[in-house]
Amino acid sequence: HADAAMYQAKKDGRGGLHFYRAEMNRAAEDRLRLAADLRAALHRGGLQLHFQPQVCPPGKTPRSPAAGPASMSLFGVEALLRWRHPVLGDVSPERFIPVAEEAGLMDELSNWVLEAACAQLAGWRADGIDVPRVAVNLSPRNFQDPGLPARVRQLLDRHGLRGDQLTLELTESAWIDRRADSLDKLRALQALGVGLAMDDFGNGQSSLSHLHRLPLRQLKLDRSFVHDIEHLAVAQTLAAAMLHIGESLGLIVVAEGIETAAQAAFLIEHGCPVLQGDRYAQSMAAEQIGPWLAGLASMAAADVGASRSDH
Ligand code: C2E
Ligand code: MG
Ligand code: MG
Ligand code: MG
Repeated sequence: HADAAMYQAKKDGRGGLHFYRAEMNRAAEDRLRLAADLRAALHRGGLQLHFQPQVCPPGKTPRSPAAGPASMSLFGVEALLRWRHPVLGDVSPERFIPVAEEAGLMDELSNWVLEAACAQLAGWRADGIDVPRVAVNLSPRNFQDPGLPARVRQLLDRHGLRGDQLTLELTESAWIDRRADSLDKLRALQALGVGLAMDDFGNGQSSLSHLHRLPLRQLKLDRSFVHDIEHLAVAQTLAAAMLHIGESLGLIVVAEGIETAAQAAFLIEHGCPVLQGDRYAQSMAAEQIGPWLAGLASMAAADVGASRSDH
């Protein structure tokens, strides 16, 4: 207990230990408070989704390399959680997702995200804004929930969406302990037409075996990997090889975190069908997607130019 530890430390005259324990308690308290605030935000409308566009380069669609429109086109958007804390300001999902997991909030949080993302996609489409699909990030524990496929089916029905208009992104850590029942859930989702994406591939414990064992539709190249393309020959070699492997396995490869013309040029040159990153668009509020989409065709020309002039 905090007071007991502090008292003991004082009595023993161990200032360092006292300080260390007090710090640990403070960190634990901060997490508890953050979890309570997150729960309140979830229940009182304090969370938002932002959306980051994913684009196909000119002349390309993910399934047919030469049949796409002459300009850049929209493949879909990824939903990303945003939380503006009343005191702390914007809190990154990298910080609050682990808090949600620890606090047992992940099922509720993911259900909220799924609902909000599908409602938004239906809303865009009702407004004549042609967003082909939305991607939602799920946590490993969401795939332990036996009700997930049934809830996803109800969600799609309720919003009048087809399965292929929803992508679920999963990180590899979900499959470190590959569980048969998780695999069943993935197959049930696949049967609904829902696309499954392996997120952050190439970061951490990437396992090539997942690529053919899991019923995946997309492979997302991690942004650290994309970043290094510019500086490291080995990253170029690996990126080109991953594109080839993904294509050979019939997966749609999505490169994330593209920031520079050189990264874009390399990936386009090597046939990457879907591009995502700040170079094209940062995540934005739902109402900004329509105006952004209206400017997409003109952005395309600039990138094709960049791609050609670099080679
Ligand atoms: P992620 O799924 O890999 O999402 C991509 C992250 O990279 C996003 O960070 C995005 O804003 C950022 N990003 C995109 N393009 C660029 C770029 O060009 N440069 C750089 N430096 N960053 C870029 P964000 O929104 O902070 O989210 C971080 C992570 O938090 C996500 O990584 C995802 O793992 C998790 N996350 C976000 N929203 C959700 C959610 O609704 N549910 C769950 N379970 N996790 C979420
Ligand atoms: Mg993701
Ligand atoms: Mg990622
Ligand atoms: Mg990530």
